[in-house]
Amino acid sequence: MTTCANSPHRRASGLSELAVTPVTRETDILASLHSSPVGALLSAHNLGHQLPVAESPQLLIVSCMDHRLLLETPDRFAFQIRTAGATPEPVLANIAFAVAVAGIRSICVVGHTDCAMCRAASEGTAMMQHLVDQEGWSKDEAAKLNASLQDEFSIDDPVAATWQHARRLGRLFPTCQVAPLLFDVEDGSLGQIVGADD
Ligand SMILES: [Zn+2]
Repeated sequence: MTTCANSPHRRASGLSELAVTPVTRETDILASLHSSPVGALLSAHNLGHQLPVAESPQLLIVSCMDHRLLLETPDRFAFQIRTAGATPEPVLANIAFAVAVAGIRSICVVGHTDCAMCRAASEGTAMMQHLVDQEGWSKDEAAKLNASLQDEFSIDDPVAATWQHARRLGRLFPTCQVAPLLFDVEDGSLGQIVGADD
């Protein structure tokens, strides 16, 4: 599998071939997203369209915690949860709350190019060393946390991982539309991740 490629994206991932389609005009937004809150996010972020202040939350954004990943969202429009690699499993209870209590029916998972979680395997040793040497952790505690990093957050490829995160959320919350998006840290744009079966 390709690792940490930046752009453009078309690669094999499991059974599906994935592509990232850009949004530079309104008609680039996928038909399935066009009239949805995800379409509104793409319109606001990529195209600079001003949208009215939302009366209630419309969208849940699960994105990576990376400092470069900043989204232009309409006011009061979205819940935002950030995790390393945009991995949803550690925050499933938060997601379920937004769906069940706040009535969210539209979710987007936002991964990004040059995600550090592609390097979690190699950086984990340095993380453990720091915890032991600088933070006073025991080696066992540090190793346990590194195992958590590898098991829960490490990814091979941002496009494939984001697509897989979205597919899993779609299965867990079938009342919701879940869209995978890719943020390009070079130009700040959002792209739509599309599988061959989509
Ligand atoms: Zn990241």
